[in-house]
Amino acid sequence: MLLVSVNAAKEAIVAQGEGGSAAHDGRRGRRPNRYPHTVEVQPVAARPTTPRRTPAPFAARDALAADLSAHVRGEVQFGAGDRALYATDSSNYRQLPIGVVRPLDGDDLAETIRVCRDHDAPVTMRGAGTSLAGQAVNTAVVVDVSRHMNRILELDPDRRIARVQPGVILDDLRAAAERYGLTFGPDPATHDRCTLGGMLGNDSCGAHSIMAGRTSDNVESLEVLTYDGLRLTVGRTSDAALAGLCAETGRRGEIYRSLNSLRDRYGAMIRERFPRLPRLVSGYPLGALLPENGFDVARSLIGTEGTCVTILEATVRLVPSPPGRAVLVLGFGDVFEAVDHSPEILATGPIGLEGFDDRLVEACRRKGLNLAAIANLPEGGGWLLVEFGADGAGGAGAKAGAVAERFGSGRARVFTDRAEQAALWSLRESAVGATAVVPGKPPTFPGWEDSAVPPERLGRYMRELDELIGRFGFDRTFYGHFGDGCLHLRTAFDFGTPAGLRDFRAFVEQAADLVVRHGGSLSGEHGDGQARAELLPRMFGPEIVTAFREFKSIWDPRGRMNPGKVVDPLPLDADLRPALPLADPKTIFGFAEDGGSLAAATARCVGVGKCRRESGGAMCPTFQATREERHSTRGRARLLWEMLEGGALPNLWRSDEVREALDLCIACKSCKSECPVGVDVATYKAEFMAHHYAGRLRPRTAYSMGLIHWWAHLARIAPGMANSVGTVPGIAGLAKLVAGVDSHRRLPRFAERTFRQDIPEDVPDLGGARGAEPRVVLFADTFTDGFAPSQGLAALRVLRAAGFSVEVPRADLCCGRPLYDRGFLKQGRRLLGRVLDAFEPELDSGVPVVVLEPSCEAVFHDELPNLFPADPRAKRLDGLVVSLGEFVARNQAAFGPEIRGRLTAPAILHGHCHQKALVGMAAEEAALRSIGLDPAQPEPGCCGMAGAFGFERGDHYELSMKIGERALLPAVRAAEPDALLIADGFSCREQIAQSTGRRPVHLAEVLAMALTDADAETPEPAR
Ligand SMILES: Cc1cc2nc3c(=O)[nH]c(=O)nc-3n(C[C@H](O)[C@H](O)[C@H](O)COP(=O)(O)OP(=O)(O)OC[C@H]3O[C@@H](n4cnc5c(N)ncnc54)[C@H](O)[C@@H]3O)c2cc1C
Ligand code: SF4
Repeated sequence: MLLVSVNAAKEAIVAQGEGGSAAHDGRRGRRPNRYPHTVEVQPVAARPTTPRRTPAPFAARDALAADLSAHVRGEVQFGAGDRALYATDSSNYRQLPIGVVRPLDGDDLAETIRVCRDHDAPVTMRGAGTSLAGQAVNTAVVVDVSRHMNRILELDPDRRIARVQPGVILDDLRAAAERYGLTFGPDPATHDRCTLGGMLGNDSCGAHSIMAGRTSDNVESLEVLTYDGLRLTVGRTSDAALAGLCAETGRRGEIYRSLNSLRDRYGAMIRERFPRLPRLVSGYPLGALLPENGFDVARSLIGTEGTCVTILEATVRLVPSPPGRAVLVLGFGDVFEAVDHSPEILATGPIGLEGFDDRLVEACRRKGLNLAAIANLPEGGGWLLVEFGADGAGGAGAKAGAVAERFGSGRARVFTDRAEQAALWSLRESAVGATAVVPGKPPTFPGWEDSAVPPERLGRYMRELDELIGRFGFDRTFYGHFGDGCLHLRTAFDFGTPAGLRDFRAFVEQAADLVVRHGGSLSGEHGDGQARAELLPRMFGPEIVTAFREFKSIWDPRGRMNPGKVVDPLPLDADLRPALPLADPKTIFGFAEDGGSLAAATARCVGVGKCRRESGGAMCPTFQATREERHSTRGRARLLWEMLEGGALPNLWRSDEVREALDLCIACKSCKSECPVGVDVATYKAEFMAHHYAGRLRPRTAYSMGLIHWWAHLARIAPGMANSVGTVPGIAGLAKLVAGVDSHRRLPRFAERTFRQDIPEDVPDLGGARGAEPRVVLFADTFTDGFAPSQGLAALRVLRAAGFSVEVPRADLCCGRPLYDRGFLKQGRRLLGRVLDAFEPELDSGVPVVVLEPSCEAVFHDELPNLFPADPRAKRLDGLVVSLGEFVARNQAAFGPEIRGRLTAPAILHGHCHQKALVGMAAEEAALRSIGLDPAQPEPGCCGMAGAFGFERGDHYELSMKIGERALLPAVRAAEPDALLIADGFSCREQIAQSTGRRPVHLAEVLAMALTDADAETPEPAR
């Protein structure tokens, strides 16, 4: 990626924005950049860009869009933002589609193809877009089947088959099959978001392919559609059936006759030239047409990457899923020693055999990912992860134990606990994202990430490949499906210089020759796409490549299905996304982890699509609720990237497409902690909104909710009057309308007396207890002070009971939380500047600062250092700020005797999403356990309210309720009447109270109930 100065017009826009005047010192000049090949200011003419293919613009786009809209029932999206959103997958390539269509069902998809055919428009099918070789992007009409065509049509446990639409997510099928003790065997690391259509397109494999084979090994039949409109079901074809089909007149007969002829002419060559290995995924699988393979037309189409036909439906085979599982981890001196042992382990009959090196482990350590799994690894510099299956856990454990014994306890560890096993698997599965962007290292890319050789040759091949990598001076990480001979790596290519681009091509060509010398395949599971298609003649020879071309033209004579991929390919170094120049405008936030560059920050997203999973984590609640790419972390990061690239979205900060996508981001910060490359959309959103609205009127809620600190200040004068605005019929409705608050919501009530008004006189101001030990500062944040003084008073009581000299700052200090999401960054910075000034005399004392509102605590850890990167006070205050739960956990000796384990009520704990993303819930849970509670946590993510987001009219309110109703609100309604509902976030409590009528409390109030000197029994039930 190249960073170039913004052009004059863009500069003008930036200058109007807050960034023009408010940017802090020290970040304006050249900054060190994470990307060694990037330069901030470079004349455009001198850019060493990648060869950019310039396909003839599709002249009739408007007519095509109109025709599609008239005939397709699903969504037809031809806007600039829609096209930008689908311009990339998880590969290095970027191609702007003509437009996007999301059909509702098979008939709708057929209609889509018909209209495209009428306009002679090329078509590219797409599932989750996690392909790594560029086969899910194209200058074509992209047809996204993941949005609507995701139904399991039939699951027959007796016949062990399932009939699915192509957009079904693999894990959904696996979950449905598990009810009958069955599973779909191939399981890519993307199993929680990849689609069956994509798996069929790529012939995907996975960790359990040594047990269950590739996708193509597990397919009974396919219903397919040709570009010219023929719909047919294909599978194995007996000789008699083949003869009958060949005798047919019409398009079907023509296809079968041509396939038959192709098979006859190339059969001998196919037998001779196709390497024999478990992971042969490159090229078209023409061997499926050989008589010994039953003339299996379905198999011959699997792995053709959408270049031949559209798959409308698939009937797939299910296999027994061993109910008992055990994972054995073996540690070796290095990854080469590990791979040398894989044939011996393979002979013991595992169901999964994976390997990885210490660079993956180091990358995870640096990023704080998968730490529990890393702690469980035996000593070593390379590891094998081996899974055994059996009817019961005991049987699997015994198999694993027997193998472990050979290596001794120092090198081998067996795990039978499912949670520990899952953690180890996620360590291995996170490899792509975890190693893509690592602090202090150059970014790594796919390109030669998926070669395969016969498993017994993997050790030699890996060593020679490592030598080759060394000769080019690249950094790399090795991991993969060692049991199947499939090797993954990410390589630190330099796409930013002509020499780097030349090296990229030279390396890939030499690596291809190397893998061919070892009898291997260019691709072991990811497919060829654009990344490897050009190399196919090196592997198969020109005659077989001619056979591939013939095969494609049998199905797609006009060459309109995913053109430029696999057959007649585009150059492997054309359209490289990381080589494209980006504007790098001035920013208000520091973006220190990205060398001060928003462009580098947005380039973090490598498209792995973890934010597209629908459960199993907090990221991304808005995608989980909408299933819309634009409302995923990836979608938002990509649109911002496109905005900086400028080709598709030329208006920089004024882009309405970007605003629309960011508008529904609830700024929960889940992506900051869960995205494997640390994409931080909440911060990007705040930065964008600051510039987007600079000098313009913002939406009403920006003023009514964003400026809550000032409203609370005013309400202190006459709280009763302020509250009546929100409650008196007629006035309340009008007030909500003016404030942009949804009619279903109640306006939050100001407290009659604020926390600071009610503080006992003997509680000193900030600095007032200097000399007394132990000291602690309790911060009176805007929410505690103006809306929930009871939690402040409870915290005061608890802290003092434990013997702390508590100080409460009396000055009107606010961290500015509600301002950031609305882009009021200048105002937020001003408030934080006042906080820094107030705390300055105390910063060296090391006095802890307890902050009760989690979103305010998050400001001190996140926005504060990011807005004041050059001010050492910011870092010091960040280090002093702590939540009440964490403070209790750190000072158990003081709190232990004062609070006792006598609360017996059932409890539900809901962590604020900023709390979960930045500090975690462990300390709070420990504090609650110490008083006898055993809280359930039904929702891993956001409650939906997300500050003021859920108060806002229309789509914000609706999305808020959708998110809340996923898990939290139903769990609250189902909770026993005497259950304690604990939520530290003011907005989370509002969501729960307004949507269920129950009354949640803050941790401080729960701890106060448990004080030994309190006369409290189990508290009043929360209702
Ligand atoms: C982090 C990461 C880990 C991965 N790990 C693995 C792994 O362990 N094993 C593995 O095999 N792969 C892996 N992959 C690659 C990728 O996830 C798989 O190939 C996956 O199956 C692709 O599914 P998708 O829904 O994202 O498909 P997409 O990328 O959307 O599409 C894949 C191909 O299928 C075609 N296609 C989609 N739907 C249809 C249809 N209805 N008709 C015709 N063609 C269609 C597309 O045109 C495209 O060519 C990994 C990728 C990432 C980013
Ligand atoms: S901040 Fe939350 S809602 Fe916004 S993109 Fe990240 S995970 Fe999604």
